Amino acid sequence: MKSDIEIALEANMKPIHQIAEQLNISEEDWEPYGHYKAKLSDQLLNKLSDRKKGKIILTTSINPTPAGEGKSTVTVGLGQALNRLNQRAVIALREPSLGPTMGIKGGAAGGGYSQVVPMQEINLHFTGDIHAITSANNALSAFIDNHIHQGNELNIDPRRISWKRVMDLNDRALREVIVGLGGPVKGVPREDGFNITVASEVMAILCLAKDLTDMKQRLAEIVIGYTYDKKPVQVKQLGVEGALTLLLKDAIKPNLVQTLENTPAIIHGGPFANIAHGCNSVMATNLAAKLGDYVVTEAGFGADLGAEKFLDIKTRAGDLEPDAVVIVATIRALKMHGGLEKGLLESENVEALKDGVGNLKKHMETIQQYGLPFVVAINQFPSDTEQEIEYLTQWCEEQGVEVSLTNVFAEGGKGGIDLAEKVMSVCEKKTTPMKYIYEMEDSIEEKIGKIVTNVYGAEGVDFSSKAEKQIRQLIELGFGELPVCMAKTQYSLSDDPKKLGRPQNFRVTVREIYPSVGAGFLVALTGDVMTMPGLPKQPAALRMDVDDKGVIHGLF
Ligand code: ADP
Repeated sequence: MKSDIEIALEANMKPIHQIAEQLNISEEDWEPYGHYKAKLSDQLLNKLSDRKKGKIILTTSINPTPAGEGKSTVTVGLGQALNRLNQRAVIALREPSLGPTMGIKGGAAGGGYSQVVPMQEINLHFTGDIHAITSANNALSAFIDNHIHQGNELNIDPRRISWKRVMDLNDRALREVIVGLGGPVKGVPREDGFNITVASEVMAILCLAKDLTDMKQRLAEIVIGYTYDKKPVQVKQLGVEGALTLLLKDAIKPNLVQTLENTPAIIHGGPFANIAHGCNSVMATNLAAKLGDYVVTEAGFGADLGAEKFLDIKTRAGDLEPDAVVIVATIRALKMHGGLEKGLLESENVEALKDGVGNLKKHMETIQQYGLPFVVAINQFPSDTEQEIEYLTQWCEEQGVEVSLTNVFAEGGKGGIDLAEKVMSVCEKKTTPMKYIYEMEDSIEEKIGKIVTNVYGAEGVDFSSKAEKQIRQLIELGFGELPVCMAKTQYSLSDDPKKLGRPQNFRVTVREIYPSVGAGFLVALTGDVMTMPGLPKQPAALRMDVDDKGVIHGLF
């Protein structure tokens, strides 16, 4: 089979104005960014306020393994399948980060015959949103250092600045740096560090803001650090929320592209799901819901991370809720959860599959706790054998859940027709509102406790003495009632990436907890999860090239 980039380069794309016409929006509601990309107006959502909302379908998955799961692939394929069934479907996805694109995971535009295009642009600089976020974030860092250099009227303690610089690459050498060296004209020396842009609070703000005004208010609330007498310092005290909003005025406009089968796709915002909240923007999802009968949207990594945050954080911020969930599983990944090594995945092994289904089972139970109907999508790989497929399908049926064998990677929308029909049917089964895992009135400890026991299956949570102290401070500062964004490894339900399958008898340790007041949540760090990833020994970048004619090679 052809590679993703080969398939993408052969795509029969429609000029973007035809995709906009498909959505029944007028010319002032969008602006072209080249032939195949457009920005939708940030005023469009207001304009459509009287339109009925379409159904929202959330795609999530089991815990990822190096074997690959294919959530984006299934999301795109399902959208294409719904379109083939003459439903107006709109896909809402995150913008890929250059960190994983150049690093280990690869791009995030789907795969095979279920991709969003132009995939090379989407995977590289796209419409520049992530660069704008980097600029806004780093402008704030520059304003902070300048404020201190110019006399430090706000009495900021340079040792207690929590705001970090960012860049959208995996660069472990920048995790901890010292800035301001070189004498008085070069600023005041202090310890700083870099996060990856997709973990920055500015990214979270852009994704959770309802509109430009809300974004500005949220930017103003950011806590950048503390004074010498330990009082929080916010962006509004520096008076730069207007400038930051200005830098983001185009980035806040959702991007319109299409799939290989010309289904409209809105791609906007891209926080990681392990170290951030993992969902595309609220504006994109809400717009897609106004423009289509069905929105198919994705939350990153497994249901323990992306879906939990979609359901406990994004639904609250965006006033939305899914009508159905798709849980993507692959036989290969379940065999890895059953203890099989990566090198042995190509050969049949029903026993390993049996040992690995516990991981899927836990995620099914989690979605049930939210009271949402769901379908399990088996994302078929060429190495899956008949016996393995039969075992997994029967196992799902024995659990009393809907299951669909999907082959959208090889067949595009056609390979997802059965899934689409099942999803449409389960959407009708939702008669009561979804339930949250925790309530906003719960204490910080209760919120985290409920997530780790109900969603991860842990016996309980422990807090380091540092985290305990931070919780007391957060309560004193009045931030105790915010939802919690967990930062945890994506590979395991626990905080130990090596515990695959469905780990039992474990506890989770929160080592640190800090406020992202602008985003509107507290971040709880577990395990040794890093907010600036590193590159692997053989990064994906080694395979990439562009030839004399400008043709791209090796972008997956
Ligand atoms: P996720 O969204 O879960 O991270 P993606 O949809 O981005 O996963 O897919 C990860 C990689 O696996 C992509 O390179 C994609 O082309 C590949 N892939 C996905 N599904 C299949 C499949 N059914 N067969 C072969 N490769 C697949």
